[in-house]
Formats: sequence, structure tokens, C-alpha cells
Amino acid sequence: MLRLSLLLLGAFLTVNGLRVAVIGEGVIGLSTATAILDLAEKENITAPRLGNQQKYGYDTFEKLATLWREYGGLSGVQLVSGHILSDSKAKLDSQRVAYGSLVYNYRDLTEPELFGPTSLFDLPRNTTTHGIHYTAYTSEGLRFCPFLKKELMAKGVRFTQRKIQSLEELGAEFDVVVNAAGLFGGVLAGDDAGNMTPIRGVLIRVDAPWHKHFLYRDFSTITIPVIDSVYMGTVKQEGAYGPSNVTFDDIQDITSRYVELQPSFKRVHMLSSFVGYRPGRKQVRVEKQIREAHGTKKFTVVHNYGHGGNGFTLGYGSAVHAARLVLDLPLTEYEGIIPEPLSMNSTVADWVRVLDD
Ligand SMILES: Cc1cc2nc3c(=O)[nH]c(=O)nc-3n(C[C@H](O)[C@H](O)[C@H](O)COP(=O)(O)OP(=O)(O)OC[C@H]3O[C@@H](n4cnc5c(N)ncnc54)[C@H](O)[C@@H]3O)c2cc1C
Repeated sequence: MLRLSLLLLGAFLTVNGLRVAVIGEGVIGLSTATAILDLAEKENITAPRLGNQQKYGYDTFEKLATLWREYGGLSGVQLVSGHILSDSKAKLDSQRVAYGSLVYNYRDLTEPELFGPTSLFDLPRNTTTHGIHYTAYTSEGLRFCPFLKKELMAKGVRFTQRKIQSLEELGAEFDVVVNAAGLFGGVLAGDDAGNMTPIRGVLIRVDAPWHKHFLYRDFSTITIPVIDSVYMGTVKQEGAYGPSNVTFDDIQDITSRYVELQPSFKRVHMLSSFVGYRPGRKQVRVEKQIREAHGTKKFTVVHNYGHGGNGFTLGYGSAVHAARLVLDLPLTEYEGIIPEPLSMNSTVADWVRVLDD
């Protein structure tokens, strides 16, 4: 019998007698709470043996496929085909290695698809551009996160909103504290300046209902169709913590790069735009620690942060790993594939002072 009192500060839940608090109501906190309940109900989630990022990707893909079959777009998940272009064949080959056998219909683009009168794009024939095609699931944050939250609430998980100053603050009250605070996960863990860095990103939501395929050029000039609009982006400004609004230069830069690929986008209307800071880290941190609250009570911390630009692609997979640590389940599937932990550096970085207001 599952008793629920998971706190997401996010959420609180009690699972198998453990009182669990999850800090963070982003995709990682919500996915971790979901995975804890999924595993508590059905322990035997298994996947083929892979590297750690591939395993996280596989487990996420499997969850998205399950949601797609059961709820379709109501879960914020969509099945979308599309193309990635790059002048670097090696970059595209690394995509094949990472997920070519996981996604559907993965293949290289042919010459007529890339160049000439029947081509999909507006590339000059003298470029050395290569391309791939595949079909996969997207999860749209603005729909996917509220969907997960609603499902968790229906299962009895309680949510509250407050700023947590330290992990110990919750350790006095809970047996397990999950640190899924994104960029600030590093700050709470004493792991900010050395390993964490904000990566500024911009997305522009446009009205282009005919656009049904995603298109990436080198992972920075992109469109992704979502349920009622299309996201166009982006920038990847590592270490940048401003400006925190979308600027005229951002829009000019993104639009001009994208219009070179698909001139029709000079005619689209902008619906909205936003700036976000990806939680950059040299590697995703999924780790367990025993800490002491007020020098007496021991409690467990499970860290799950630092997903950079891949929180949605890897999120449920890393959540399953974190949930196994929370529930003390066997970790044989992760043996030999988890990189050595990074050394901690708790110097407070400049970006913390600016962004943590
Ligand atoms: C422009 C852009 C494009 C992106 N595109 C993609 C993509 O195509 N694919 C992909 O997989 N990913 C993408 N990402 C990356 C993805 O968004 C991130 O990896 C993901 O959002 C990280 O999720 P998170 O839950 O770790 O962090 P967040 O979403 O930042 O959530 C952290 C949560 O912790 C809370 N919190 C923080 N500190 C405290 C505290 N002290 N007390 C209480 N609560 C606290 C915050 O309020 C928040 O709710 C993109 C990001 C951006 C900005």
C-alpha cells in the first residue's frame, strides 16, 4: 500500500514509509516525483544496457511513448518528424551513435532532399551540408509540466511554494530530500562556481500552423512545432546571466539565421518569446549523500540537477535513477556507466548573486 506525502517545492510525498521532499517544480523535480511513484508501484523498469546518457535518453523515450499512447497531446507529448543539418559529418554521426537505434525512421538525407529544385531547404548547392531525418517525441514544457503536476496531485502528492535556503532546513522534517532545483541545485549543494554555469537561451513562439517538421541547423538554429504554435530559436550563451529579457538583437539574430534556411519564416507572426537559463554542468549530477540536520538528525539527499540543454530529453531517465536512490532499489543497471563524481567547489559565482534574487 502506497502512502503519499511527497513535498514538491515543489512537492512532498510519503512512499513506503519514507517522508520525501522534492525541491523544484521544473521538469526534473516533477519527473523525479513521478518516477518515485512509478517505481514504488512497479519496481521492474528495465532497459537495455547503455552508456549513462543513452540510458537516461532511453528511459525518457519509453516514458514519452507510454504517455503518447495513453494521453496523446493532452500530456504535452507529441510525435514529430524532422531534420538536422550540419556541415560537420562527425557531429551528425555522433547523433546516430547516441540515439539512431532508439528513435524511429533514422536515416541520412539524400542529395535531392538537401539541394536543388526538389530540396526541403534553401541551401546553396556548393555547401558541404549534411543532414539526417528521424521521428521522435517532443514534450512541450508549458503542457508537459502541468500534466505531470496534475497527475501527481491526483495521486495525493502535496505541493507548496517557498524558497529553501539550505537542504538541512528540510532534513529536520524529511527522511529524503531530492535536490532538483535546476541551476540553483548547485547552489544548494555547495557545487556552484566550479561546476555549474548558466547557459542563456531564447525561444520565440511563432504562428506557423503549416510547419509540421522540426528543423535544426547545428543545434542552435532551430524550429520545433508544438501543439498550437512553433518554437524558433535559439542562442546558447554559456556563462551569460543577462539580459534577462529578449532583446531586439536576439530576435534579429535568430530570425535572420533561420530565414536563411526557410525563407517562409520571414512572413510569420511572433506570438511571444522568452529567455531561460539552462542549468549547465560538466555532467548531470545524480548522486546520494547522507547529511546531518542541526548536527543531530541524519537524512538522505538525492541530487538530480545539471541537465544543461537536455532536461526534457533525459529528464525522466535521470529521474528513474534518482528514484532508485530514493527508494534504495538495486542499481545494477547503472554499474560502470556513471561517471566519477566531480569535485565540489562551493565558491559563490557572480551569476548566483545576479540570478538568485
Ligand atoms: C531556450 C531553451 C531551450 C531548451 N530546449 C531544450 C530542448 O530542446 N530539449 C531539452 O531536453 N531541454 C531543453 N532545454 C533545457 C531544459 O529546459 C532544462 O534542462 C530544464 O528546464 C532543466 O529543468 P530543471 O527542472 O532541472 O530546472 P528548472 O526548470 O530551472 O526548475 C528548477 C526548479 O527549482 C526551483 N528552485 C530553485 N531554487 C530553489 C530554492 N532555493 N527553493 C525552492 N525552489 C527552488 C525553481 O523555482 C524551479 O521550479 C531548453 C532550455 C532553454 C532555456
